[in-house]
Amino acid sequence: MESDIISFLEGKLNVPDMPVIPFVEGDGTGPDIWKASSRVIDRAVEICWQGKRKIVWKEVLAGEKAFNMTGEWLPEKTIDEFRKYRVGIKGPLTTPVGGGIRSLNVTLRQVMDLYACVRPVRYFKGVPSPVKEPHRVDMVVFRENTEDVYAGLELKSGSSEVKRLIDFLRSEYKWNIRPDSAIGIKPISRDGSRRLIRAAIEYAILHSRRNITLVHKGNIQKFTEGAFRNWGYELAKESFPAETVIWDEYDAKAGEKRILIKDSIADIFFQQALTRPDEFDVIATMNLNGDYISDALAAQVGGMGMAPGANINYQKGYAIFEATHGTAPKYAGLDKVNPSSLILSGAMLLDYIGWSDAARRIEKGIERAVASKKVTYDLARLMDGAHEVSCSGFADSICGFMED
Ligand code: NAP
Repeated sequence: MESDIISFLEGKLNVPDMPVIPFVEGDGTGPDIWKASSRVIDRAVEICWQGKRKIVWKEVLAGEKAFNMTGEWLPEKTIDEFRKYRVGIKGPLTTPVGGGIRSLNVTLRQVMDLYACVRPVRYFKGVPSPVKEPHRVDMVVFRENTEDVYAGLELKSGSSEVKRLIDFLRSEYKWNIRPDSAIGIKPISRDGSRRLIRAAIEYAILHSRRNITLVHKGNIQKFTEGAFRNWGYELAKESFPAETVIWDEYDAKAGEKRILIKDSIADIFFQQALTRPDEFDVIATMNLNGDYISDALAAQVGGMGMAPGANINYQKGYAIFEATHGTAPKYAGLDKVNPSSLILSGAMLLDYIGWSDAARRIEKGIERAVASKKVTYDLARLMDGAHEVSCSGFADSICGFMED
């Protein structure tokens, strides 16, 4: 068997038995969690297919390691390799301070047009949580990744550019903006919104989910966030009439089986996600709301150490899976932190390439490892009667629990 490239034809991934998958091990604690994660992912694949399938990992450089070796934080070659091999995975990266690239993660998302940030949020029994019934949380957040206030369109207070813009807005639109203001621009496009919401609907159909909530602040920002909501309903009616039903036409009493498309204003969503989490299933939202929402929901099920994520362009098949936490530099090289976020991102990757049996193995391994109470420091300090193990020790334990 030879290693090969994942291809993408007519909207479908074609995955060989030995796909080459690029990885960035990441900065700080990245090398520790990458070593642990790749071991768990490889073992899950081996248990399922006894060598008939195997991932061929290929290291690509980004972050501090790239800077030390090439003088660049995000070499062009790395982006080329992610494009060439289509599906990749990365550990956390340091955001370079001062000058140059703002954030390597944001840059990667923008240059590869990875428009959907996908974050499943579910509870693993036994993980310490600040809420009483964390098992009621089972949501998948689809956050738009390329627009909104993240587009980088900002002008500094007092700059000549901002003065010109303020003058223009005053003369053309009669908008009175204080002269010492800074200004940021919030673009929300119909195409950008619809492709994100389409991805959420297609995911909900594929995974038999019950409902999709469009989260927005359309009561205040009518033409940006309000339009996102309207475009969502429009798309559902136009492209998915057999699979979805919109809120206004929903009739529970009639035994409606289609996926319900509803919406929620962001502030009330935060409240209800705490008080009635089981009413929410798939969430589709814009960039800033999505940023807040995914971290807030992750907190309900035990924090960022357990939260996986992916950045995907479904139209081109590109996907980069990632740990959602940062580099936790104070623990670098100590073999100490929790590798679950990257391991579960690896399980998402396996689902994405259609190797779901291995993904389920990994989830089972993590569930059992947590239940055994032999866990990394972050969980151990919050659990009664827990025994602290290292990052690699936790990976050993997960591997053991993945066997039948
Ligand atoms: P951070 O690295 O996420 O760490 C904050 C705290 O979260 C840690 O001190 C630790 O808490 C806990 N934590 C993080 N990862 C953990 C893990 N795997 N297991 C257990 N606990 C974990 O956030 P930061 O200190 O704000 O950022 C550090 C660097 O990471 C910055 O350069 C930032 O830009 C970058 N960053 C990268 C990404 C990314 O690549 N996706 C995301 C966020 C931040 P305790 O101290 O309580 O033990």
